[in-house]
Amino acid sequence: MKVKSPLEVYNYLPRTNCGECGFDTCMSFAAHIIDRSVTPLDCKPLVEEAEKDPKAKKKLEELLELTAPEIAEVVIGVGENAVKIGGEEVLHRHELTFFNPTGFFYDVWDTMDDKTLEERCDRVVSYKKFYVGNFLTLDGFAVRCTSGDPKRYREVVKKVASYGKPMILVALDPECMEAALEEVADQRPLMYAATEGNWKEFLKMALEYKVPVTLRAKDLDVLKSMAVTFKQAGVKDIVLDPVTEPLGEGLKGTFERVIQLRRTAIAGQDKDVAYPIMITPIAAWLIEGDEVTKSYWEAVIASMFIVKYGDVMIFRSLDQHVVMPTITLRFNIYTDPRTPVQVEPGLRAINDPGPDDPVFITTNFALTYYTVESDLTSGGIKGWLLVLNTEGLGVEVSVAGGQFTASKVKELIEETKIEEKVNHKYLVIPGLAARLQGAIEDETGWKVLVGPMDSGRIKGWLEKNWPPKEKE
Ligand code: SF4
Repeated sequence: MKVKSPLEVYNYLPRTNCGECGFDTCMSFAAHIIDRSVTPLDCKPLVEEAEKDPKAKKKLEELLELTAPEIAEVVIGVGENAVKIGGEEVLHRHELTFFNPTGFFYDVWDTMDDKTLEERCDRVVSYKKFYVGNFLTLDGFAVRCTSGDPKRYREVVKKVASYGKPMILVALDPECMEAALEEVADQRPLMYAATEGNWKEFLKMALEYKVPVTLRAKDLDVLKSMAVTFKQAGVKDIVLDPVTEPLGEGLKGTFERVIQLRRTAIAGQDKDVAYPIMITPIAAWLIEGDEVTKSYWEAVIASMFIVKYGDVMIFRSLDQHVVMPTITLRFNIYTDPRTPVQVEPGLRAINDPGPDDPVFITTNFALTYYTVESDLTSGGIKGWLLVLNTEGLGVEVSVAGGQFTASKVKELIEETKIEEKVNHKYLVIPGLAARLQGAIEDETGWKVLVGPMDSGRIKGWLEKNWPPKEKE
């Protein structure tokens, strides 16, 4: 984004503070443009004015240009399942944040028999992993043309499209690609890939069917010159594939090409290569060896490029040892470092507790909360869990930083009316908050029991400490 301050954006806005955008003032809206939670197109009066007045239209276009991300954003698919890739602003996550998580696409091919195809599609669609309060899912399909038969490819693409997930159409033969596009262009698939051999036909199709296109070349000069040609012809939605080589010097070279592309785009301000980058961990299946070796390398390659600039990926393996680490890594890399991941503070009833059951307290840092909650739930422990608003910080940090205090615990006890739900006044605090024991007792009038350092040990701790000796 070329503009850095809300004031620069504010000058382009109507400045009427009408509130239609959901913000009280145009300045507040401008600040949200800078943090990328809204775009200029979310200001209705601005858009309406641009529709009527050519001068206002020019001004809006200027603002869109100034607020466009450093790396172009490309959308694959339509509707609620559509995947946005690219749109990044910085080389390093800690400088701001990364915005659009790497798109994960899984290959199916048109020489598969129908039953195997359906089973594989079902696995992709139904994959779901609960992690830190979120369900992690897979994004879509890469439908490969292995038959060389346009009719068969079109049939299979149509079938895969019925699953409603975004698609990458993988076919180098223009005839096969066009057959598929005739069927599903309105689903906005990503074409893969235009090369030095077929780019003219692919350019024609990208323009005719208005779909995004991947350009593929190992030589970065060739890749750039293809990107310039496509852009000048009017294609905006471009993805660059600098060719993933799976092992040894090849893998090292791939890494260097990817870094060079992104650095040139962001640090070097070269708009000709400022596009999302395609990585194909599936290339690991070209390595000699058994399936475990290939899938191992697939996970390694994916991990390298989730961390460094892979915006969209094509995978083969759906094995847990590949999907689980890569999807978790993706979640962590694309979590906004400016806002800690947090849950709603308040009171949670665990396993249908009664008035005799213990009252625990933890913080609203999502990772802490879900760990404690899952240890209690899976341990079959009945209890009441108070969740303190520590601004998304964990126990140790919030005790040290003053977000976990005796007075806040008192407020939470009052707000949640926990005293009306239990017939005792014992509060179990985390072992890492032990130093607050006296202060909480003084402030709340509750007796404080210091629980274990690790919520995984609560079950054993309760066996020895609950009900409390004095209470019995
Ligand atoms: S809708 Fe536009 S004019 Fe109205 S407050 Fe928001 S930014 Fe300002």
